[in-house]
Amino acid sequence: MFKKILVANRGEIALRIQRACREMGIKAVMVYSEADRDAKYVKLADEAVCIGPAPSAQSYLSMPAIISAAEVTDAEAIHPGYGFLSENADFAERVEKSGFVFIGPSPESIRIMGDKVSAKQAMIRAGVPCVPGSDGALPDDPATIKRIAKTIGYPVIIKAAGGGGGRGMRVVHTEAALIHAVQTTKAEAAAAFGNPEVYMEKFLQNPRHIEIQVLADQHRNAVYLFERDCSMQRRHQKVIEEAPAPGIARRLIEKIGERCAAACKKIGYRGAGTFEFLYENGEFYFIEMNTRVQVEHPVTEMITGIDIVRQQILIAAGEKLPFTQRQIQLRGHAIECRINAEDPYKFTPSPGRVTTWHMPGGPGVRVDSHVYANYTVPPNYDSMIGKLIVHGDTREQALARMRTALAETAIEGIKTNVPLHRELMVDANFEAGGTNIHYLESWLEQRDR
Ligand code: ADP
Repeated sequence: MFKKILVANRGEIALRIQRACREMGIKAVMVYSEADRDAKYVKLADEAVCIGPAPSAQSYLSMPAIISAAEVTDAEAIHPGYGFLSENADFAERVEKSGFVFIGPSPESIRIMGDKVSAKQAMIRAGVPCVPGSDGALPDDPATIKRIAKTIGYPVIIKAAGGGGGRGMRVVHTEAALIHAVQTTKAEAAAAFGNPEVYMEKFLQNPRHIEIQVLADQHRNAVYLFERDCSMQRRHQKVIEEAPAPGIARRLIEKIGERCAAACKKIGYRGAGTFEFLYENGEFYFIEMNTRVQVEHPVTEMITGIDIVRQQILIAAGEKLPFTQRQIQLRGHAIECRINAEDPYKFTPSPGRVTTWHMPGGPGVRVDSHVYANYTVPPNYDSMIGKLIVHGDTREQALARMRTALAETAIEGIKTNVPLHRELMVDANFEAGGTNIHYLESWLEQRDR
């Protein structure tokens, strides 16, 4: 087993990985930008290295800075967390070439899955159902593009091959708007992702976002840890996640889960990963694969009792998965609310000093956050400052626990979306379960009217 791991991330996930390392008796080297100097996980770290100024481009995205930090501290492996360099195949390659273990899949797997066009093609070959769409990237010829759209049927969605984080997508309802939409998305994709390739998919009208968590080791074993429902989204960003997905028959989940595990074996995938699907009228349609740990991984940990970060580390060290599919049991229901430093009505970021930080507790309540009283949320990064996760025997109990937990939560000094979560937890439709990916936005529209 590794003696020392470098954590190439910040915030709550940096703390999460540090905790997993501690539990396993592994030393964790934390890296930080000048803006994160006062983070508690930095102060309490076994070792910490400043890797640059606040802007991510010069710190958390700087490959040379991170690799040198691993060299000077004699770390053996690098855990990339999520975001930043976690899905950068060049980084994974440089980590390996520098003699460290990258805690994640091979650079080849990251590269294939990082390009949504090649990912979809790989999934079709591996027998995973996909959204009907163009056969690969769209050509330049307008007549051909129109013909493809006509075959798929309107509305269609134009998506950047290199897109991510909910960006680089455009819905088109009519042929008249098609060519302009393709050109604009291409130009945006070239600027934002350095890759102008776009593809076309049928735009599903009222799907749910259902994803399957997988774990695969280096000995051709792969399992699925059931599903998460992440349909509560704003601007394609997840706000609330839960597991299991309300109202979907277990045999459907088992069928798609088995497909995902089989696909992992087929493509030689290793590590933790997530197959994201849109789910409509009883059918699953693959949209993309994330080759890293996800923000919402705790809901899966709560219903399975499996520590996903620990498994990532064990897999990277070459260990076999310690369980078979049949040994993985689903117990109860878990819900996660992402806590963002933002105005709960206008959604403008709200960085600054946290004067009060009182977090809930009690049975089935988990808080994953690096924040503490008097901590200053820097303005330089994502607004997510933590996650509140609850587990109950049933969905009703989990909901009741989340309501109590949110009522106990007191954060002052900055604005957060906690008031929004409190309202959503008593919304009749959310309570009923099974809301689609547009529900939250239409709910917000109604509220603000
Ligand atoms: P990203 O990598 O940016 O997260 P995804 O491909 O995962 O992009 O899509 C993000 C979200 O966009 C989905 O959760 C869904 O809300 C919406 N979306 C993507 N593709 C489609 C589609 N074909 N039909 C309807 N909605 C879609």
